[in-house]
Amino acid sequence: MSKTSLSISTQNKLILLGLVVSTVLIVGLAVFAITNIQQKIAEVYSGFGEILTRTLAIESVEITKDVQEFDKFSTLQNHTKSIINSNNEIAFIEFQDDKNNVIYSSKKDYPHRAAQAMITSSSQLLVDNDGVKTNIGKVIVGLSGGATKDISHATRNSMLVVFTVAWLVFTLVILINTILITRELSMLHHGVKKISTGAFGYTLDDKNTSGEIKDLIQAFNDMSLRLHQYEEQNVDQLTLERNKFEAVLMSIVNGVVVCDNYDNVVLVNNAAKKMLEIEDEQILNTKIQMYCDTDGELCFKEKIEQFKDTPLDIMENKPLEFNIEVDTKVLKCVISPMFSKNQDYVGYVIVLIDVTKEVEIDKMKSNFISNVSHELRTPVTVLRTYIDTLYNHSDDFDEKTNKEFFEVINKEAARLQKMVNDILDFSRLEAGNVKVEKEKTNIVPVIEQQIKSMQVLAEEKHITFSLIKEPDLPEIPINVDSIERALNNLLSNAIKYSPENGRIKVRAELARDPNFVEVSVEDQGCGIPEEHQKKIFERFYRVENDTHTVKGTGLGLHLVKITIEKHHQGEVFVKSKPGEGSTFGFRLPINPVEKTEEDDEIQ
Ligand code: ADP
Repeated sequence: MSKTSLSISTQNKLILLGLVVSTVLIVGLAVFAITNIQQKIAEVYSGFGEILTRTLAIESVEITKDVQEFDKFSTLQNHTKSIINSNNEIAFIEFQDDKNNVIYSSKKDYPHRAAQAMITSSSQLLVDNDGVKTNIGKVIVGLSGGATKDISHATRNSMLVVFTVAWLVFTLVILINTILITRELSMLHHGVKKISTGAFGYTLDDKNTSGEIKDLIQAFNDMSLRLHQYEEQNVDQLTLERNKFEAVLMSIVNGVVVCDNYDNVVLVNNAAKKMLEIEDEQILNTKIQMYCDTDGELCFKEKIEQFKDTPLDIMENKPLEFNIEVDTKVLKCVISPMFSKNQDYVGYVIVLIDVTKEVEIDKMKSNFISNVSHELRTPVTVLRTYIDTLYNHSDDFDEKTNKEFFEVINKEAARLQKMVNDILDFSRLEAGNVKVEKEKTNIVPVIEQQIKSMQVLAEEKHITFSLIKEPDLPEIPINVDSIERALNNLLSNAIKYSPENGRIKVRAELARDPNFVEVSVEDQGCGIPEEHQKKIFERFYRVENDTHTVKGTGLGLHLVKITIEKHHQGEVFVKSKPGEGSTFGFRLPINPVEKTEEDDEIQ
C-alpha cells in the first residue's frame, strides 16, 4: 500500500517537474524569439532612418540649390513641415550649417513631436561643383519609433498567444496521458493486489486500452489464467497426495496418533480410534495426556512426560515403548519424535499395536510350561512308584492287585504318551513344511478303530460310546495317521470332560453341504461357556474355571484344527452349552482342491 502510493507520487513529481521544465523552456524560447525579432526590427528601423536622412539631405541640397539665401529658411521650413505632416514616424528634422549652427529646426514648430524622438540619424549636405563635393552642413532627423513599438507589440502578443496555446496543448496532452496511464496503472495495481490475495484467474478488461498497455494487460490476464490453472493442478495434486496419504494411514492395521508440538492430537487413523474406543471429535484437537482408558486412568500422561524429559536423539534412536490396557485389549504404544524436512521438531507420533493376543499367548505359554511340567511329573511319579512297588513286592500281591497296578501304569503311560505326542506334533507342525500324504479312505473304520482304542479309558468312567454312521459314505482323501490323532484328541477330551456313566455319540455322515463328510463327537460333559468357544482351538488355550479342573496342555484342539484345516482343507466346529455337553467335530472335503506348497507356506 505505502509502496504503491510512493511510486505514484514519484510519478506525479516527475510529471510536475516535466511540466515546469517544459514551461520554463517554452517561456525562454518565447522571450528569446521576441527579443530577437525586436532587435531585427530596430536594426531595420535605424537603416530606414539613415536612408531617409540621406534622401532628405540630397533632396534639401537640390531644392535650395537655386534659391536665394533669404528664401532658403522658408523653403527648408515648408519642405520639412510637409514631410513631418505626411509621416508620423519623423519626430523632428534639423538643418545645420558647416559650423553646426542651426539653420532650421522643426523642434520649435513641433515641440510635442520632437519630444517623441527615440532614434536620431544625420547626413551631410554635400554640394557637387563640377565633380567636387563640398560639405555645406548636415541634416539631423529624429524618428519617433512608433512603428517599431507597434510591430514589437504585435509580434510579442502573437508570439505569446502561440507559445501559450502550445504550452496549454502540451500540458493538456501530458495531463490526459497521465490520467489515462494512472487509470490503467491503478487497474493493474488492483489486479496485482487481487492476485496477491490468491484470486488466481482474475482478469482485467482491455477494451479501452491500446498499444503497450493493452499488451501489458493481456500479459497480466494470461499470467493470471496460468496461475489459476497451476493452482488447480496443484490443488488436485495436493488433494491426490493427501488422499493417498490418508488412505494409507487409514488402512494401516496399527493405530496411528499424530500430536503437534503442544500435545494436540492433529491426526488419528481408524485403527487408533477403534483401539482407543473413541470418535474423531473426542480426540482431535485435544491433549493426548487427557485421554482416559476404560478404568478412567490418564494412561498416556506419565509416559508423555517421560518422553519429553528424554533428549530427542535418544528418543529417535530408541522410541519409548509401553503397554496400556483399554477394555480387554492390551495396546503396545511406541512414541517417536517427528521432524520436519529442515530437521525441526514438530511433534510426535504414537503407534498403537494390539498385542492382546501376544500377551495372552505369553501368559498361556507360561501356563503351558507350568502345566506340562506338572502333567509330566504326575504320571512319571505315579509310574515310578507303581513300578517300584511291583518290582519289590509283586510276589506279595495277588493277581488282581497286580493287574490293578498294571492298569494304572498303563493308563499313566498312555497319558504320558499322549502328552509327549501332542508336544512333539505341535513342534513338528509349528515348524511348517510338513508333508502330508493322503489316500482315499473310508473314514468309518478309522473312527471305529479309535473308539475301540478308547474303550479302556471310557470304561473307567463307565462311559458308553455309540457310533451313528450314514451308509455308503464316500471315500475321502485323508492322512490316516493324522486323522486318527485328531479323533483321538476329540474322543479323549469327550471322555475327560464327561461325567461318570456318560454317553458319547460319534456321528459320521454327509454334511449339509454334500461335498463334505462330517464327523462329530457329542458328550454330556460340563460344556464350554460361549466366550471361550471362539478361542478354544487356539494354541495353549485352556478353559480354567471351577468346572474345568482337569489339567492339560491346551494343545490338543489346536492340533486338530491344524490337521483338519491346514492339511485337509476342511473345517472344525464346536457347539456347546455349559452344563449340557459339547459337540466337537470336523468336516472334510470329498474332492479337495489340492494346495500348492506355496499356499501352505503362506498359511
Ligand atoms: P487340553 O489338553 O488342555 O485338554 P485341548 O486343546 O484339548 O487342551 O482343550 C482346550 C480346552 O478346551 C480345555 O482346557 C478344556 O477346557 C476345553 N475342552 C476341550 N474339549 C472339551 C469337551 N469335550 N468338553 C468341555 N471342555 C472341553
